[in-house]
Amino acid sequence: MRKIFRCAWCFEVNEIFVDFSAGEDQIYVEDCQVCCRPNTIHLRIDMTTNRVEIENEHEG
Ligand SMILES: [Zn+2]
Repeated sequence: MRKIFRCAWCFEVNEIFVDFSAGEDQIYVEDCQVCCRPNTIHLRIDMTTNRVEIENEHEG
């Protein structure tokens, strides 16, 4: 499933691919496709409804 988040640094929209097989609670670092600065992505997936919540912040 593709989702978007807004970069915490430059506020540009980034598209990411959510891997459901990686579990329902995921934290990882994704570099912004526009400014290349790292965002810490926190995904929460509801496996019954397939709803995905995304929170992101500056890394660190
Ligand atoms: Zn950015």
